[in-house]
Amino acid sequence: AKDGGRRAFHFFEPGMDARVRARRLLEIDLRRAMAAGEFELYYQPLVSLKSGAITGFEALLRWHHPSRGLVPPAEFIPLSEEIGLIVPLGEWVLRQACAEAARWPANLKVAVNLSSVQFKTGNVTHAVLSALANSGLPASRLELEITESILLAESEANLATLYRLRGLGVSVSMDDFGTGYSSLSYLRAFPFDKIKIDRSFVSELSDGGDCMAIVRAVAGLGSSLGIATTAEGVETGEQLAWLRNEGCTEMQGYYFSPPVPASKIAPMLKANEGA
Ligand code: C2E
Ligand code: CA
Ligand code: CA
Ligand code: CA
Repeated sequence: AKDGGRRAFHFFEPGMDARVRARRLLEIDLRRAMAAGEFELYYQPLVSLKSGAITGFEALLRWHHPSRGLVPPAEFIPLSEEIGLIVPLGEWVLRQACAEAARWPANLKVAVNLSSVQFKTGNVTHAVLSALANSGLPASRLELEITESILLAESEANLATLYRLRGLGVSVSMDDFGTGYSSLSYLRAFPFDKIKIDRSFVSELSDGGDCMAIVRAVAGLGSSLGIATTAEGVETGEQLAWLRNEGCTEMQGYYFSPPVPASKIAPMLKANEGA
């Protein structure tokens, strides 16, 4: 016990597992970054497959690390979720995305990703309401992207929250559709406004076979249920042509544009005018 007290001060012991140590360092770094304001939102356009017009942008979080450069979310969101930092970070994302979108032309929407942890330990409804109120953005211009993990855990409470949010006038999209176990039953559990077909299906369209059949079925499902379908990760003109032909309503992907900083939005909209 005596030893234990002393050990508490020896944070990084020689024997400490390298992974645990790296994790601990990242945690300290993330908390510092939050205080230092090192996060930024990039925006990737969502494009109508019918008209070719930009209908909105998905906000995607980036970390400008002083020495590591631009850090992608896959490298810090999972840990942010584990340590609960995703709650204040997610609130910042909502505030920032709504504030920036309020300056765009009024026909454009902004899509924000929500973590299941924000549902579990944060007050999502309050975060959304205050982001809308502070920015003046109408609720109808905000789309919330959730994955089915939100409905998987604590489903009753989360479902109630989702209904409350949708009641405010925001729309709700099911992200990464097809990657979970019971995407279909969640479509029945909640009136999603949009299905985002996961990139893994879209990227393998050119190989023909299964992915084609799956994407075709989801696009058909969307159109018969009256739910918009967005294909994620569109990288080629062939994919685009095929998706349009199958009745997918919207696309997102490098073929049109990667996520860009907010300052690039105005020129992109100008170039897209008349589409
Ligand atoms: P996601 O929500 O599925 O976002 C789409 C991801 O696909 C983005 O990665 C985007 O840059 C990437 N992408 C888009 N088009 C293409 C393409 O044509 N090809 C390829 N290879 N990739 C494409 P990103 O920005 O690295 O984000 C990764 C994930 O991190 C997101 O996946 C989302 O789950 C999470 N994320 C990002 N921002 C936030 C946030 O503000 N809050 C939360 N909770 N999660 C976020
Ligand atoms: Ca998303
Ligand atoms: Ca997605
Ligand atoms: Ca994805």
